[in-house]
Amino acid sequence: MNPGKALTPLEIYKVLEKSNCKRCMLPSCLAFAAAVVGGQKNLDDCPLLSEAVKNSLASTLQKRSMAEPRQAEFMTKLLQEVRGLDLAAVATRIGAEYDNGVLSVRSMGKEFFVDSQGQVRSECHIIPWVLAPLLAYICYPTHQAITGRWISFRELKGGIDWQGLFTSRCETPLRKLADAQSELLGDIVDLFQGKEVEGFDADIALVLHPFPHFPILICYQAPDDDLQSELTILFDECCGTNLHIKSIYTLCAGLIKMFEQIARHHFVTNEQ
Ligand code: SF4
Repeated sequence: MNPGKALTPLEIYKVLEKSNCKRCMLPSCLAFAAAVVGGQKNLDDCPLLSEAVKNSLASTLQKRSMAEPRQAEFMTKLLQEVRGLDLAAVATRIGAEYDNGVLSVRSMGKEFFVDSQGQVRSECHIIPWVLAPLLAYICYPTHQAITGRWISFRELKGGIDWQGLFTSRCETPLRKLADAQSELLGDIVDLFQGKEVEGFDADIALVLHPFPHFPILICYQAPDDDLQSELTILFDECCGTNLHIKSIYTLCAGLIKMFEQIARHHFVTNEQ
């Protein structure tokens, strides 16, 4: 699905300055609106668009793409698929464990147990946005082992269609969180059994494993004088084979929401 189809160029155009100032490197605001829908530009590329308007557009788009009925339908389909699976065979394929009819999938250092009816339990709180991608990961028909090659979201199959939304809802909010709380990414490493890695042009580069064969790499460069901070989320090349792009987006957006909650908790704790 192209998320641009959930938001029309006109809807985007309506909230732009309509000055055709070209600071987005396009000849007009209308061209910019079309480029956002097409995934070649994202809302952050217009410097005149306020944060409030961007957030409102992104949440409209998100509400449509994540509409409850569609999500419920998707979950029903996933549960049906899980019930038809040979969980022992799935465990070997996806890098999980199988014992006594229950699949055990490690996600960010925590075990999630899935039975033959698709019931999921865990030692930690299960957030809905992670539940659907977890079941989708188990059911996904193709599978590839970790390659060690990192690619951008845009390079994943179908990624270009979701790039605007991914930037607005995942990379940008996480960058701002890291700017506001310099220790956050280090805490994420500790809390989710991540690993700091070397060799990337970043102040901190960390690898997390949302699923066994699904590593993501977060690279963060702190702001420096007049230079704005940068944050990029990269994916092992296998991720595009092991999960549909919509589930990848949903998973990342869910993780960022969780990190926001952690950051809020830290802020409150530190203030006390
Ligand atoms: S930078 Fe914003 S206001 Fe200027 S042309 Fe592009 S979309 Fe329009």
